[in-house]
Amino acid sequence: MQYDHILVRFGELTTKGKNRKLFIGKLVQNVKAALAEFSHLEYQRTYDRLYILLHDENQEAVVEKLKKVFGIHSFSLAIKVNSDLEEIKKAVEYIVENCEGTTFKIDTKRNDKAFPLSSQEINRVLAGHVFNHTTKDLKVDVHHPQILVKVELRKEYTYIMNDVVKGAGGYPVGIGGKALLMLSGGIDSPVAGYLTLKRGVMIECIHFSSPPYTSDRARDKVLRLVEKLTAYTDKIKVHIVPFTDLQLAIYEHCDESYAMTCMRRMMYRVACEIAKKNHCLVLANGESIGQVASQTLESMSVINEVTTMPIIRPVVCMDKLEIIDIAQKIDTYDISIEPYEDCCTIFTPKNPATKPRLHRVLSYEENFDYESLIKECVENTESLLICAHPKNEEDLF
Ligand code: ATP
Ligand code: MG
Repeated sequence: MQYDHILVRFGELTTKGKNRKLFIGKLVQNVKAALAEFSHLEYQRTYDRLYILLHDENQEAVVEKLKKVFGIHSFSLAIKVNSDLEEIKKAVEYIVENCEGTTFKIDTKRNDKAFPLSSQEINRVLAGHVFNHTTKDLKVDVHHPQILVKVELRKEYTYIMNDVVKGAGGYPVGIGGKALLMLSGGIDSPVAGYLTLKRGVMIECIHFSSPPYTSDRARDKVLRLVEKLTAYTDKIKVHIVPFTDLQLAIYEHCDESYAMTCMRRMMYRVACEIAKKNHCLVLANGESIGQVASQTLESMSVINEVTTMPIIRPVVCMDKLEIIDIAQKIDTYDISIEPYEDCCTIFTPKNPATKPRLHRVLSYEENFDYESLIKECVENTESLLICAHPKNEEDLF
């Protein structure tokens, strides 16, 4: 006896009325992409569920991948048997033996009213069977069981499943358009990327790099962060912008206290160009109110002034500790705290303006031809594709 399939329940999307078909289609497509390496899996769909037939594939590995697919509400490992009491008993026994815990409950739903026993009677018979055959020291707990075995008895077949595993929630990636994520090597922006993906929005990433002031290792760090994010979507395009010349010009022509404001305005300008070129509707970033000088409301409004493109800031109102919690959960934290410096850190002025004035930054920007420098940045941007499956990693295109 072993689990032979996984029953997947769809999430928030079941409430989405006429878009439902589209959503479920996307979700199923994403599930298949996430599980592409398991070539023996077979998929069956009903109105509100997806059945994944395991056919001897490694169930733990499949479960780990499935936990990261947005749009899944929950899923359970399950066994399908004929609606025959002896077969059902064996399946229940197997599940109780293979789940962790010492208290259990059996919860039977009987769709086939012609079956000779009632749901309650079936529960009792199955629990009795478990007690007679188990190697564990078990107790029944009907209120808070550690092991909940659900039995769905239908006319021909019965489905027996273990406890419900919580899915990743959110919407299937790809149903919400595409955002360009400004990805530094820090803690916040990968979390912002994860939260954006969770809303069903696909991402591409843009990273500003300032060689030789920033090293290859800083760049490599960013690519490894992107790779972590590919656990939630199949592939991610990354645009690396050579930012050195523009950054040096900013420091030459702006008062030092305004260099940060001006630099971030330039980043937004370049990012908007790259976004338009790649059909991204919005920018996304890891800004969080008050964290640094450039993230006061005054700074944000002066910086944001360069564009009307919407900017989503998923972590804008979160505490650093809340952000760190998510970073640890998605396994980006340890990479983010590696010490390689990015372009912001290297050019950080001693006293950046926390309440910059628009007219001042505009007057500094009149001092130099930033538009042609922006054009150069856009033209010389290098684009890479990072894939979830290592063999295709970093295909240059
Ligand atoms: P993070 O932890 O994400 O680096 P931060 O708290 O260090 O954020 P800043 O350095 O001011 O804050 O950056 C704010 C946001 O601007 C980042 O979250 C990121 O979205 C974007 N950003 C900063 N530096 C870069 C960069 N070199 N390339 C791309 N985006 C960047
Ligand atoms: Mg940073």
